Amino acid sequence: MSKYFSKKYASLTPYTPGEQPKDMKYLKLNTNESPFEVSPSVLEALKTESQKLQLYSDPENINLRKKIAEIYNVKPEQVIVTNGSDEVLNFAFMAFCDQENPIVFPDITYGFYPVFAQLNNIPYTEIPLKSDFSVDVNDYIGINKNIVIANPNAPTGLCLSLEQIEQIVESNPQNIVIIDEAYIDFGGVSAVQLVDKYQNLLITQTFSKSRSMAGARLGFGIGNKDLIADLNTIKYSTNPYNVNRLTEWAGVSALNDNSYYMDNCKKIIENRNFTINELEKLGFEVLSSKANFIFAKSNKISGEKLYLTLKEKGILIRHFSKERIKDYIRITIGTIEQMETFIDTLKEILK
Ligand SMILES: *Cc1c(COP(=O)(O)O)cnc(C)c1O
Repeated sequence: MSKYFSKKYASLTPYTPGEQPKDMKYLKLNTNESPFEVSPSVLEALKTESQKLQLYSDPENINLRKKIAEIYNVKPEQVIVTNGSDEVLNFAFMAFCDQENPIVFPDITYGFYPVFAQLNNIPYTEIPLKSDFSVDVNDYIGINKNIVIANPNAPTGLCLSLEQIEQIVESNPQNIVIIDEAYIDFGGVSAVQLVDKYQNLLITQTFSKSRSMAGARLGFGIGNKDLIADLNTIKYSTNPYNVNRLTEWAGVSALNDNSYYMDNCKKIIENRNFTINELEKLGFEVLSSKANFIFAKSNKISGEKLYLTLKEKGILIRHFSKERIKDYIRITIGTIEQMETFIDTLKEILK
């Protein structure tokens, strides 16, 4: 730390992204990327737009917001697009939380929530998941604080029902409820359909997982138009051109090919079922997942040992050192060939 670094950030612990090795020698099952490439028309859009890079992007991103609004059956004023969904989450923490408006989230969840809270000097409470790692909805009913819940949750993959989400939203009308649906396309039910009914509900989603665009950085928020206007105040106070020209049009093209991506999600679900089955045969305890990853624990070998041994053999998975989940590993679901390689390697290790 330099002597110039602001005291207000001195104790900030930044988020740790999953490993991104610079060589291609690893089978990457560690950061929940899609194993599938983008659709051909996305490449076309990139080519066309790359010839206009001397021009600023549209700060309103109106074409992309219209397209998202059409797919999710809302109005463009109810949509904001951002540089990954991490950005809309940070905007929401900035816009709706402060010393008087703290936030709560589960103790086991996306590691960025406590970072956003610390960054913006927001008091936060981590509510323990139940012993089976599910969210206890009763903990959130009428809690009278802002709430962020990843649904499906990460890294557990467990999903709340639409009814459970509605109970939480309905019982906290004075507070914002953010539902982070980064993984919703892999089998959960989206709460987007509730945004017209509840003015305190903000949904965030991303193109990083189900739409194969992690490297393009595109996320979005959907909510009541007044909430979106507040998020825009933050956007225009930090970075009006937060979604660049290439990414905006890649996003529009991806949504024009939405069925390609939704078919890919079906393949991931099949491959997930295959992997869960094989892991259970090998004595793993696997949480039921509605995401493009699974969370599992071996009855023979520690999570850390598994992570290290798999890495030696060229396969990256994610291991978390947090006490409550240190026995578990999180495995991203890839193509069927990738999952077969993973299972074969695992069998070798466990022999
Ligand atoms: C991956 C992820 C995000 C954000 O990803 P972006 O690439 O910034 O869109 C948000 N929430 C959860 C739970 C995630 O796993």
